[in-house]
Amino acid sequence: MLELREVTKTYGRTTAVDRLSITIHPGRVTGFLGPNGAGKTTTMRLLLGLERPDTGAALVNGRPYHALARPLQEVGALLDAGAVHPGRTARAHLGWLAAAAGLERSRIAEVLELTGLTGVAGRRVGGFSLGMRQRLGLASALLADPPILILDEPVNGLDPEGVRWTRDLLRGLAARGRTVLISSHLISEMALTADHLVVIGRGRLLADGPPDALGEGSLED
Ligand code: ADP
Ligand code: ADP
Repeated sequence: MLELREVTKTYGRTTAVDRLSITIHPGRVTGFLGPNGAGKTTTMRLLLGLERPDTGAALVNGRPYHALARPLQEVGALLDAGAVHPGRTARAHLGWLAAAAGLERSRIAEVLELTGLTGVAGRRVGGFSLGMRQRLGLASALLADPPILILDEPVNGLDPEGVRWTRDLLRGLAARGRTVLISSHLISEMALTADHLVVIGRGRLLADGPPDALGEGSLED
Protein backbone atom coordinates (compact mmCIF):
# COMPACT_ATOMS: atom_id res chain seq x y z
CA MET A 1 0.00 0.00 0.00
CA LEU A 2 1.09 3.57 -0.75
CA GLU A 3 -0.14 6.52 1.21
CA LEU A 4 0.19 10.27 1.25
CA ARG A 5 -1.05 12.10 4.30
CA GLU A 6 -1.56 15.84 3.84
CA VAL A 7 1.66 16.13 1.85
CA THR A 8 2.88 19.50 0.65
CA LYS A 9 6.01 20.02 -1.45
CA THR A 10 7.13 23.39 -2.76
CA TYR A 11 10.00 24.44 -4.99
CA GLY A 12 10.61 28.12 -4.40
CA ARG A 13 7.27 29.76 -5.18
CA THR A 14 5.88 26.68 -6.99
CA THR A 15 3.64 24.43 -4.94
CA ALA A 16 4.11 21.08 -6.72
CA VAL A 17 2.03 19.06 -4.24
CA ASP A 18 -0.61 20.77 -2.12
CA ARG A 19 -1.99 19.06 1.01
CA LEU A 20 -2.45 15.83 -0.92
CA SER A 21 -3.92 12.80 0.83
CA ILE A 22 -4.32 9.57 -1.16
CA THR A 23 -4.20 5.83 -0.53
CA ILE A 24 -3.15 3.42 -3.28
CA HIS A 25 -4.43 -0.09 -2.65
CA PRO A 26 -3.03 -3.46 -3.74
CA GLY A 27 -4.81 -5.70 -6.24
CA ARG A 28 -5.52 -3.07 -8.86
CA VAL A 29 -3.85 -0.76 -11.34
CA THR A 30 -4.24 2.78 -10.07
CA GLY A 31 -3.91 5.47 -12.69
CA PHE A 32 -2.50 8.75 -11.50
CA LEU A 33 -3.94 11.28 -13.94
CA GLY A 34 -3.36 14.98 -14.42
CA PRO A 35 -2.00 17.48 -16.94
CA ASN A 36 1.73 18.17 -17.27
CA GLY A 37 2.91 20.01 -14.18
CA ALA A 38 0.09 18.64 -11.99
CA GLY A 39 2.56 17.10 -9.54
CA LYS A 40 2.53 13.41 -10.54
CA THR A 41 6.29 12.96 -10.82
CA THR A 42 6.91 14.90 -7.62
CA THR A 43 4.41 12.69 -5.78
CA MET A 44 6.14 9.55 -7.06
CA ARG A 45 9.54 10.96 -6.09
CA LEU A 46 8.18 11.68 -2.59
CA LEU A 47 6.96 8.08 -2.28
CA LEU A 48 10.36 6.83 -3.45
CA GLY A 49 12.23 8.97 -0.93
CA LEU A 50 13.85 11.08 -3.67
CA GLU A 51 12.21 14.18 -2.26
CA ARG A 52 11.32 15.07 1.30
CA PRO A 53 7.84 16.50 2.00
CA ASP A 54 7.71 20.00 3.49
CA THR A 55 4.80 18.82 5.62
CA GLY A 56 2.89 15.56 5.92
CA ALA A 57 4.07 12.01 5.25
CA ALA A 58 4.61 9.83 2.16
CA LEU A 59 4.48 6.18 3.20
CA VAL A 60 5.19 2.76 1.68
CA ASN A 61 3.47 0.03 3.71
CA GLY A 62 3.21 2.49 6.56
CA ARG A 63 6.81 3.68 6.52
CA PRO A 64 8.80 6.38 4.79
CA TYR A 65 10.89 4.91 1.97
CA HIS A 66 14.15 5.49 3.84
CA ALA A 67 12.88 3.34 6.73
CA LEU A 68 12.18 0.27 4.54
CA ALA A 69 14.32 -2.75 5.39
CA ARG A 70 14.91 -3.82 1.77
CA PRO A 71 13.68 -0.97 -0.43
CA LEU A 72 14.82 -2.39 -3.77
CA GLN A 73 12.98 -5.63 -3.04
CA GLU A 74 9.87 -3.84 -1.79
CA VAL A 75 9.31 -1.23 -4.50
CA GLY A 76 10.01 -1.27 -8.22
CA ALA A 77 10.18 2.11 -9.95
CA LEU A 78 10.22 3.53 -13.46
CA LEU A 79 10.89 7.26 -13.35
CA ASP A 80 12.85 8.19 -16.44
CA ALA A 81 13.11 5.47 -19.07
CA GLY A 82 15.84 7.43 -20.84
CA ALA A 83 18.21 7.35 -17.89
CA VAL A 84 20.26 4.30 -18.87
CA HIS A 85 23.93 4.31 -19.83
CA PRO A 86 23.76 4.27 -23.67
CA GLY A 87 26.89 2.14 -24.05
CA ARG A 88 25.54 -0.73 -21.97
CA THR A 89 23.59 -3.61 -23.41
CA ALA A 90 20.15 -4.30 -21.97
CA ARG A 91 21.46 -7.50 -20.37
CA ALA A 92 24.46 -5.70 -18.85
CA HIS A 93 22.19 -2.96 -17.48
CA LEU A 94 19.96 -5.53 -15.78
CA GLY A 95 23.03 -7.42 -14.55
CA TRP A 96 24.35 -4.26 -12.97
CA LEU A 97 21.00 -3.61 -11.22
CA ALA A 98 20.74 -7.23 -10.08
CA ALA A 99 24.24 -7.09 -8.58
CA ALA A 100 23.49 -3.76 -6.86
CA ALA A 101 20.32 -5.19 -5.31
CA GLY A 102 21.83 -8.60 -4.47
CA LEU A 103 19.38 -10.46 -6.70
CA GLU A 104 19.67 -13.85 -8.38
CA ARG A 105 21.02 -13.49 -11.91
CA SER A 106 18.35 -15.94 -13.10
CA ARG A 107 15.82 -13.12 -12.79
CA ILE A 108 17.52 -11.30 -15.67
CA ALA A 109 16.44 -13.86 -18.26
CA GLU A 110 12.97 -13.97 -16.71
CA VAL A 111 12.34 -10.22 -16.93
CA LEU A 112 13.83 -10.03 -20.43
CA GLU A 113 11.35 -12.71 -21.50
CA LEU A 114 8.46 -11.05 -19.64
CA THR A 115 9.06 -7.71 -21.36
CA GLY A 116 9.76 -9.15 -24.81
CA LEU A 117 13.40 -8.01 -24.86
CA THR A 118 15.16 -11.39 -25.06
CA GLY A 119 15.96 -10.90 -28.74
CA VAL A 120 17.64 -7.50 -28.23
CA ALA A 121 19.25 -8.17 -24.84
CA GLY A 122 22.75 -8.06 -26.34
CA ARG A 123 22.24 -4.70 -28.07
CA ARG A 124 23.43 -1.36 -26.72
CA VAL A 125 20.68 0.69 -25.10
CA GLY A 126 21.86 3.81 -27.00
CA GLY A 127 20.26 2.36 -30.13
CA PHE A 128 16.93 1.56 -28.48
CA SER A 129 13.65 3.21 -29.48
CA LEU A 130 11.56 4.91 -26.79
CA GLY A 131 9.30 1.84 -26.67
CA MET A 132 12.28 -0.49 -26.12
CA ARG A 133 13.57 1.85 -23.38
CA GLN A 134 10.17 1.74 -21.70
CA ARG A 135 10.25 -2.04 -21.82
CA LEU A 136 13.74 -2.04 -20.32
CA GLY A 137 12.55 0.38 -17.63
CA LEU A 138 9.73 -2.02 -16.82
CA ALA A 139 12.13 -4.97 -16.82
CA SER A 140 14.32 -3.07 -14.34
CA ALA A 141 11.33 -2.27 -12.10
CA LEU A 142 10.24 -5.94 -12.16
CA LEU A 143 13.69 -7.41 -11.51
CA ALA A 144 13.18 -8.03 -7.78
CA ASP A 145 9.54 -9.07 -8.34
CA PRO A 146 8.49 -6.36 -5.86
CA PRO A 147 4.97 -6.19 -4.35
CA ILE A 148 4.73 -2.49 -5.22
CA LEU A 149 5.33 -0.77 -8.57
CA ILE A 150 5.56 2.99 -9.13
CA LEU A 151 5.74 3.73 -12.86
CA ASP A 152 5.87 7.26 -14.26
CA GLU A 153 4.33 7.42 -17.75
CA PRO A 154 5.09 3.74 -18.55
CA VAL A 155 3.20 3.72 -21.86
CA ASN A 156 4.48 7.11 -23.04
CA GLY A 157 5.61 6.71 -26.66
CA LEU A 158 4.47 3.11 -27.01
CA ASP A 159 2.58 1.99 -30.09
CA PRO A 160 -0.93 0.52 -29.62
CA GLU A 161 0.47 -3.01 -29.44
CA GLY A 162 2.93 -1.86 -26.75
CA VAL A 163 0.13 -0.20 -24.80
CA ARG A 164 -1.95 -3.39 -24.94
CA TRP A 165 1.00 -5.50 -23.92
CA THR A 166 1.83 -3.19 -20.97
CA ARG A 167 -1.81 -3.16 -19.88
CA ASP A 168 -1.99 -6.95 -19.87
CA LEU A 169 1.27 -7.23 -17.93
CA LEU A 170 0.26 -4.66 -15.30
CA ARG A 171 -3.26 -6.04 -14.93
CA GLY A 172 -1.79 -9.51 -14.46
CA LEU A 173 0.51 -8.23 -11.73
CA ALA A 174 -2.39 -6.44 -10.00
CA ALA A 175 -4.48 -9.62 -10.22
CA ARG A 176 -1.68 -11.34 -8.31
CA GLY A 177 -2.04 -8.82 -5.49
CA ARG A 178 0.58 -6.27 -6.46
CA THR A 179 0.13 -2.56 -5.85
CA VAL A 180 0.53 -0.85 -9.23
CA LEU A 181 0.62 2.94 -9.60
CA ILE A 182 1.05 4.41 -13.09
CA SER A 183 0.90 8.03 -14.19
CA SER A 184 -0.28 9.61 -17.40
CA HIS A 185 -1.56 12.94 -18.67
CA LEU A 186 -3.86 11.16 -21.15
CA ILE A 187 -7.24 9.86 -20.01
CA SER A 188 -7.46 7.79 -23.19
CA GLU A 189 -4.38 5.81 -22.10
CA MET A 190 -5.61 5.47 -18.55
CA ALA A 191 -9.08 4.32 -19.54
CA LEU A 192 -7.40 1.33 -21.22
CA THR A 193 -5.07 0.42 -18.40
CA ALA A 194 -6.25 1.52 -14.95
CA ASP A 195 -8.99 0.00 -12.75
CA HIS A 196 -8.98 3.02 -10.51
CA LEU A 197 -8.12 6.68 -11.07
CA VAL A 198 -6.63 9.32 -8.85
CA VAL A 199 -6.92 12.68 -10.58
CA ILE A 200 -4.81 15.67 -9.56
CA GLY A 201 -4.40 19.24 -10.78
CA ARG A 202 -1.97 21.86 -9.44
CA GLY A 203 -0.89 19.40 -6.76
CA ARG A 204 -4.39 18.93 -5.39
CA LEU A 205 -6.71 15.94 -5.38
CA LEU A 206 -9.59 16.41 -7.84
CA ALA A 207 -11.15 12.95 -7.94
CA ASP A 208 -10.57 9.39 -6.71
CA GLY A 209 -12.64 6.49 -8.05
CA PRO A 210 -13.24 3.96 -10.84
CA PRO A 211 -12.82 5.40 -14.37
CA ASP A 212 -16.47 4.96 -15.41
CA ALA A 213 -17.65 6.90 -12.35
CA LEU A 214 -15.53 9.97 -13.04
CA GLY A 215 -16.99 11.26 -16.32
CA GLU A 216 -14.31 11.50 -19.00
CA GLY A 217 -15.25 14.92 -20.36
CA SER A 218 -14.38 16.81 -17.21
CA LEU A 219 -10.92 15.27 -16.95
CA GLU A 220 -9.27 16.27 -20.21
CA ASP A 221 -6.82 19.14 -19.91
P1 ADP B 1 3.87 16.21 -13.55
O1 ADP B 1 4.67 14.99 -13.24
O2 ADP B 1 2.42 16.06 -13.21
O3 ADP B 1 4.09 16.71 -14.94
P2 ADP B 1 5.75 17.51 -11.77
O4 ADP B 1 5.65 16.82 -10.46
O5 ADP B 1 6.91 17.15 -12.64
O6 ADP B 1 4.36 17.36 -12.54
O7 ADP B 1 5.82 19.08 -11.53
C1 ADP B 1 4.91 19.78 -10.68
C2 ADP B 1 5.32 21.22 -10.60
O8 ADP B 1 6.51 21.33 -9.83
C3 ADP B 1 5.65 21.86 -11.95
O9 ADP B 1 5.29 23.20 -11.87
C4 ADP B 1 7.17 21.68 -12.03
O10 ADP B 1 7.75 22.65 -12.87
C5 ADP B 1 7.57 21.87 -10.58
N1 ADP B 1 8.82 21.15 -10.23
C6 ADP B 1 8.96 19.80 -10.20
N2 ADP B 1 10.21 19.46 -9.81
C7 ADP B 1 10.87 20.63 -9.62
C8 ADP B 1 12.20 20.97 -9.21
N3 ADP B 1 13.09 20.04 -8.92
N4 ADP B 1 12.49 22.28 -9.09
C9 ADP B 1 11.60 23.24 -9.36
N5 ADP B 1 10.32 22.99 -9.75
C10 ADP B 1 9.97 21.71 -9.87
P1 ADP C 1 7.37 15.00 -16.06
O1 ADP C 1 6.55 15.77 -17.03
O2 ADP C 1 7.35 13.52 -16.28
O3 ADP C 1 7.10 15.40 -14.64
P2 ADP C 1 9.55 16.80 -16.23
O4 ADP C 1 10.30 16.96 -17.49
O5 ADP C 1 8.53 17.80 -15.79
O6 ADP C 1 8.89 15.37 -16.30
O7 ADP C 1 10.56 16.64 -15.02
C1 ADP C 1 11.72 15.86 -15.12
C2 ADP C 1 12.61 16.15 -13.90
O8 ADP C 1 12.89 17.55 -13.80
C3 ADP C 1 11.98 15.76 -12.59
O9 ADP C 1 12.98 15.20 -11.76
C4 ADP C 1 11.46 17.04 -11.99
O10 ADP C 1 11.50 17.02 -10.56
C5 ADP C 1 12.45 18.06 -12.53
N1 ADP C 1 11.81 19.36 -12.79
C6 ADP C 1 10.58 19.56 -13.31
N2 ADP C 1 10.30 20.87 -13.38
C7 ADP C 1 11.41 21.51 -12.93
C8 ADP C 1 11.73 22.89 -12.75
N3 ADP C 1 10.88 23.88 -13.05
N4 ADP C 1 12.97 23.18 -12.28
C9 ADP C 1 13.81 22.21 -11.97
N5 ADP C 1 13.56 20.88 -12.09
C10 ADP C 1 12.36 20.55 -12.56
